[in-house]
Amino acid sequence: MTLLADRFGRTFPYLRLSVIEACNFRCTYCLPNGFQARPGRPEPLSREEIARLLHGFAAVGLRKLRLTGGEPSLRRDLPELIASAAAVGGIESIGLTTNGTLLDRRVTRWREAGLTNLNVSVDCLDRERFQTITGHDRLPEILRGIELARELGFKAIKLNAVLLRDLNDDQMPAWRDYLRERRVTLRFIELMQTGDNRAYFERHHLRADGLEQQLQDEGWRLLPRATDAGPAREYAHADFAGRIGVIAPYSKDFCAGCNRLRVTHTGDLRLCLFGNVGIPLRPLLQCDDDRPRLVSALRTQLGLKAIGHRLHEGETGLTPNLSTIGG
Ligand code: SAM
Ligand code: SF4
Repeated sequence: MTLLADRFGRTFPYLRLSVIEACNFRCTYCLPNGFQARPGRPEPLSREEIARLLHGFAAVGLRKLRLTGGEPSLRRDLPELIASAAAVGGIESIGLTTNGTLLDRRVTRWREAGLTNLNVSVDCLDRERFQTITGHDRLPEILRGIELARELGFKAIKLNAVLLRDLNDDQMPAWRDYLRERRVTLRFIELMQTGDNRAYFERHHLRADGLEQQLQDEGWRLLPRATDAGPAREYAHADFAGRIGVIAPYSKDFCAGCNRLRVTHTGDLRLCLFGNVGIPLRPLLQCDDDRPRLVSALRTQLGLKAIGHRLHEGETGLTPNLSTIGG
């Protein structure tokens, strides 16, 4: 098998697939007014279309799949989707990024279906502030869901927190208590500017450098980057079972480590989270015989992937907010 590679020698074993556009939360940085269904909008990819897509990607080296959204747990057939991905040869890990609202009720089923990795978004450990940020007073049940998940033998459980000036930048003591005994990785994500959130970004963007310096001063040690790792810089500390990762999209090396491709819920291939082009793959997902055309389209498009994003110049690309593409 020849692996997918671009002009800069990057290979792409990792696909983030958005399986639904809708979301039940109103995170202030993402969907402050909640998800607005547009009349006549296209249906998300069906299970059959997704299975064909995954077989095509697997033929060019897909090993790690992440299902995202919108809120992927709103998709009723999520367990079946996970099971059909698990049946595709070559896919070694299947992750889910979720806001955690259905975790306590569904995580056991997802795990049984073949889910191996879990990322839960928890921006804040303070219940009231969590509600201010997400629009929902559901922190206790999300934390309960995480405790349940910890007993299910996932390869990794990660919690995502978007760093927000004046909203959750005082949470380090609470996170330290949380991570002392729990083998989970907390990942701080620097707020990214998108088409919709420019004013919010100006107000709440906080660079991760200060946080990284603080971690180092407290004795957290930067771990060597695994060859197939994503863009997070990960820290460990002898006194803590948990780890802390930092995702800093504005740092200079962020794109060099890019090993991921994205496909939207309607089957558009996005070469970069902040790119200006979406390549519609859906027409190539209508019958099994289309697989050679799909594979050839993937190879051609990768040849066009740019070396890096242009976020520094305020160029946010096609992405109005990350719910459309899954982060
Ligand atoms: N709804 C799911 C969730 O929240 O986990 C999956 C989709 S959400 C778009 C994926 C991740 O992107 C979440 O961890 C979320 O916090 C993050 N995210 C959304 N908008 C962001 C932004 N503007 N900057 C940084 N991270 C963002
Ligand atoms: Fe929904 Fe996730 Fe966006 Fe929050 S970050 S609004 S949970 S898609």
